[in-house]
Amino acid sequence: MLRKELNLFTYKDLLEFYPLRHVDKTKVDKIASLTYSTDYAQVAGILTDMELLGDKRSKRLVAHIKDDTGMVELVWFQGISWVQKILQVGQQYLVFGKLSFFQNKPQLAHPEIENYTADNATGKSHLEPIYPSTEKLKAKGINGRVFSKFTAEVFKKITEKDLPENLPDSIIKKFKFIKRYDAYKHIHFPASPAHYQHAVRRLKFEEFFFAQLSIQLIKISRQRFSKGSPFEKVGNLFNEFYKNYLPFSLTGAQQRVLKEIRKDTGSGHQMNRLLQGDVGSGKTMVALLSMLIAADNGFQSVLMAPTEILAQQHFNSIKELTKELPVKVELLTGSTKTRQKNELLQQCSDGSISILVGTHAIIEDKVVFKNLGFAVVDEQHKFGVAQRARLWKKNAIPPHILVMTATPIPRTLALTAYGDLDYSVIDELPPGRQPVTTVHRNETARPQVMDFVKEQVALGRQAYIIYPLIEESSKLDYENLMKGFEEVKSFFPEPKYWISMVHGKQTPEVKETNMQRFVSGDTQIMVSTTVIEVGVNVPNATVMVIESAEKFGLSQLHQLRGRVGRGADKSFCVLLTGQKLSNDARERLKIMVSTNDGFKIAEKDLEIRGPGEIEGTRQSGELNFKLASIVHDKAMLEAARTAVEEIISADPDLFAPENAPVKAYLAQRKAKTAWSKIA
Ligand code: ADP
Ligand code: MG
Repeated sequence: MLRKELNLFTYKDLLEFYPLRHVDKTKVDKIASLTYSTDYAQVAGILTDMELLGDKRSKRLVAHIKDDTGMVELVWFQGISWVQKILQVGQQYLVFGKLSFFQNKPQLAHPEIENYTADNATGKSHLEPIYPSTEKLKAKGINGRVFSKFTAEVFKKITEKDLPENLPDSIIKKFKFIKRYDAYKHIHFPASPAHYQHAVRRLKFEEFFFAQLSIQLIKISRQRFSKGSPFEKVGNLFNEFYKNYLPFSLTGAQQRVLKEIRKDTGSGHQMNRLLQGDVGSGKTMVALLSMLIAADNGFQSVLMAPTEILAQQHFNSIKELTKELPVKVELLTGSTKTRQKNELLQQCSDGSISILVGTHAIIEDKVVFKNLGFAVVDEQHKFGVAQRARLWKKNAIPPHILVMTATPIPRTLALTAYGDLDYSVIDELPPGRQPVTTVHRNETARPQVMDFVKEQVALGRQAYIIYPLIEESSKLDYENLMKGFEEVKSFFPEPKYWISMVHGKQTPEVKETNMQRFVSGDTQIMVSTTVIEVGVNVPNATVMVIESAEKFGLSQLHQLRGRVGRGADKSFCVLLTGQKLSNDARERLKIMVSTNDGFKIAEKDLEIRGPGEIEGTRQSGELNFKLASIVHDKAMLEAARTAVEEIISADPDLFAPENAPVKAYLAQRKAKTAWSKIA
């Protein structure tokens, strides 16, 4: 039962099944003192009645506890027969649970309950742990109190020897940490709140410390052992392109990142680099220049994009930019016709293609390269970990990997989820860009908003109108999109205006045609779902209207908004919503209106949603800290990281006697490193 419900297998697991909180069992609430702001309540009194109500699905057991100030209702929806068996009307009970109010009366659903005896009446000396439990366990009578007994049993059996020190002495001294055994003991059964705090502090640090340590060790071993294709020179392709075809001069940040990449790829070791740059910061050009260097050294490159539209667009622009150069650029996506595909596969394997642009179709096993030396993954947050790992295997010597993302990752998240990657940032936008002005409007203002769009179109600009598509298969979403399309048409009648529409149910050809008409300026309005989200580049588009903006997440809104403000003209983003908004939605809209800074938005996103929900990191087990939080314990994360760096730089193999406890503990811990090769 414990195994299945909670994944608890060993006594160690039980020790690390930490209590949610502790209650002071010496304190019993008077029922009359319970208010709407009371979170948990502990009351003592007599069980006055107990009755089975409702039937089938609405079946429930309702009872009441009365003290000298009032009455509280107890209710059970599950495990009813068990509760009926152990409780007796007229007996005194001590009851603890989460308090809610039902029809204005205080209620405890599925409370913990025990006989009220002289023993607990006079109170116990320590704080009693409250553990998380599931409804199923509760139904079997395994509640927090039972856990508390299990855990207490464990402490009767183990000694300090069973929980040996795992940190170097110097760190323990520096941070004044308590012993490991004591930390476990006090997190369950603290003598005081201060004892509990000391325990939490040490155990949180351990979590960060060992996560950082395994990341750093992976990085070191990769630097030592992984061979990479050496790009020894910068040759004609790069030089000629740079001199004659580069359409603008690089920003300082682009130049810096390019240097970082050149240094890595020239070293003989494999590069694994994460490149972050806000939307529109010019990552593509950095990728192209790097791929030209690869070609100069006789290596093939791939550029992998998350959608067909984006792959097509990368292909078009790279093809155009390099048309005067002797470099073969091709496109491979899911919709490439079989005959052409076979030809492309042939040209990949004989080495005649230098740059292959595509979607995930390029990592299929069928695609074999002669000598793949460089792989770019654009907008990495759209790719799964497994897909990325497959790139590694595309060459005997794994290709250098450049992962690009426009969804900035907060530093704490980057340290934990991508800490083994090298890291570059383009923190400068090309000159002349103006920040996008963002406003939030009620749907009732749609006519005025459309008038504003008309003004922009009259100036020769173009506009996006975006509809939410939460699920690709959702019929309702498509109906909304079609309704929206009709409405947009009524605001923008042909032939004065022309409208493109793009959504996920269209064939790639239809999508492409609609897209191209917008890119070339044949249509002034693009009605679309979020397929437009990443990468699309139409500098003449200056307005984006986002319908039902409350349904989008922050990073999605930021990505979408990044489609405007790409040219020299002032751009606008209008977030349309209904009247009723959740607090989270209101907060998201407020953030979008107040800043264009992707890093700030990413920090907020992390705060609102928590690390588990951030796209692309869900799979990385190392974010699942039991106690520590990368949102709330930033300073501790930095401290742990610094401590690890100091140890590793002095003693990378952990040979020093001082580090023996660390090494022993690591050896004992099963390494969960599958995710570490994600780049
Ligand atoms: P992102 O980083 O979002 O992928 P892109 O690579 O699509 O951005 O670049 C956005 C736009 O900025 C493109 O039109 C690109 O040609 C242009 N651009 C990139 N670098 C520069 C630069 N140094 N100076 C001027 N424009 C640039
Ligand atoms: Mg891009």
